[in-house]
Amino acid sequence: MKKWNLVIDVAECHNCNNCFISAKDEYVGNEFPGYSAPQPLHGHKWIDIKSRERGSFPFVDVAYVPTMCNHCDDAPCVKAGRGAVTKREDGIVIIDPVKARGRSDLVDACPYGAIWWNAELDLPQAWTFDAHLLDRGADAPRCVKACPTGAMRSFKVSDDEMRRITQDEGLEELAPEFKTRPRVLYKNLHRYNKEFVAGTVVAISNDVADCVSDATVELFDGTACIGSAVTDAFGEFKIDRLEPRPRALRLHVSHASFVPRDLEFMFDSHSIALAEIALQRAT
Ligand code: SF4
Ligand code: SF4
Repeated sequence: MKKWNLVIDVAECHNCNNCFISAKDEYVGNEFPGYSAPQPLHGHKWIDIKSRERGSFPFVDVAYVPTMCNHCDDAPCVKAGRGAVTKREDGIVIIDPVKARGRSDLVDACPYGAIWWNAELDLPQAWTFDAHLLDRGADAPRCVKACPTGAMRSFKVSDDEMRRITQDEGLEELAPEFKTRPRVLYKNLHRYNKEFVAGTVVAISNDVADCVSDATVELFDGTACIGSAVTDAFGEFKIDRLEPRPRALRLHVSHASFVPRDLEFMFDSHSIALAEIALQRAT
């Protein structure tokens, strides 16, 4: 049995909001019996783009993470729904727009905050994966078609095939601690939930700082090397995917033409841009 999955590449999302707007355009004022009642014009974000800034000048990046109903295989909303929320054979979870009327408790049943309360209609609502379009032959939900960067992709594949894609592409769940087996998975999620250490390696001569390219920078937590990088043409490096927890770290910088240097610093669990690291030329 083939089932729907959505994959979002955080590195490719530029916050254009086309996916958010496509869901608004599809559902605001439109009723799809058996799938969804109209979404209100204001207040709901069935596709909700979260953002996070990391680092400090001059090493700053921003990640955008579109979130929505994950169409979980172990969905708490289905369990809480008592027939008002169903899991289809193709993996899509539908909140029945008739049976769920008055069920405000379902909003709290979703640990991701993906269910929105429509006060006017007395109805809990969530993104339906555009099931009404897929059932009429569409090959992808509108958000995927509207995404200009290819950050969103949908797959209708067997669970075995999706496991292979997940492994090959290093896909991750947004919140594995919820243990709901979501069908929305993320690539490059480290840009949102992990940290980095960055800096510039220079050589000082005659009071002028020159960039040192091709220096090897290794990051140690105790004796364990937890990341490494090679400086670019500007002498810059960035070691990413660090767990966000406070600890003392040590940087070891080496280059064939310079005296190696160690630098100890306190990592406070947030991404950090170190001051320039100056090397002395080997004699
Ligand atoms: S994300 Fe929330 S609303 Fe969607 S299936 Fe999972 S638990 Fe239900
Ligand atoms: S349409 Fe694509 S690039 Fe634009 S916000 Fe959505 S996921 Fe990001």
